[in-house]
Amino acid sequence: MKKGKRAKRIQEILNKLFPHPAIPLKHKDPYTLLIAVLLSARCTDARVNQITPKLFAKADTPEKMISLKPKEIEEIIRPCGLAPQKARAIWGLSKKLLEEQDGKVPRSFAELEDLPGVGHKTASVVMAQAFGKSAFPVDTHIHRCAKRWKLSSGKSVVQTENDLKKLFPKNSWKKLHLQIIYYARTYCPARGHKMDQCPICLET
Ligand code: SF4
Repeated sequence: MKKGKRAKRIQEILNKLFPHPAIPLKHKDPYTLLIAVLLSARCTDARVNQITPKLFAKADTPEKMISLKPKEIEEIIRPCGLAPQKARAIWGLSKKLLEEQDGKVPRSFAELEDLPGVGHKTASVVMAQAFGKSAFPVDTHIHRCAKRWKLSSGKSVVQTENDLKKLFPKNSWKKLHLQIIYYARTYCPARGHKMDQCPICLET
C-alpha cells in the first residue's frame, strides 16, 4: 500500500478504535496542563495524575507556586523522577510567567519554548490541547509507530513531526496525536508487539 493510502487507512482504523480520545493528564487550565506535561517527561501519565492533585492543592497558579520553595515542590513531585530539575523548572517558569506574561501561559511556540524546562513537545501539547492550535506533538510512542508504519524514516522526532504533518490533514493533528498514543500503549509497545492481534500492520 502506498504511503498516502496507508496513512488514510490508519486514520480510519484509529477513528474507529479511539473515536473520542480524552486528554490523559488531569488539569483545569493551561497553567496546570503545562505543569502536568512538564512532569510527564520520562514518567507515566498515571503517575503524574497521582501527584498533580497534591501539588495543585498547594499551588495551582504561578503566584502560589513561587510562594513555595523549590525544595517543597521537589518533595511533592519526587515520584515523577528528575525531581530537582523539574522543581527548578516549575518554579522558574512560574516566576517568568509572572514577570513577563502577566501570570498567563503564552499562546506562541516561541514564548512557550522560552520558558525553563519547556521544549518543543511540551509546547506542542499545550498549543494543541489548551489552546486548540494546530500542532502535532511527537513523543516516543508516536515516533516509534510512525517508523513501524513506514510513515516516516524515524531519523529524528523533528523528521517524524514534519512527515506526519504532510500526511494528515491539519484539522486532525490534535486528535491523531492522542489516538496514536492510545494505540501505541494498547497494541504497539516498544517491545513484544503481537502482529496476529494487531489491527494496523496486518491491514496496511
Ligand atoms: S504489528 Fe501492530 S504492534 Fe507491531 S508494529 Fe505493527 S502496529 Fe505495532
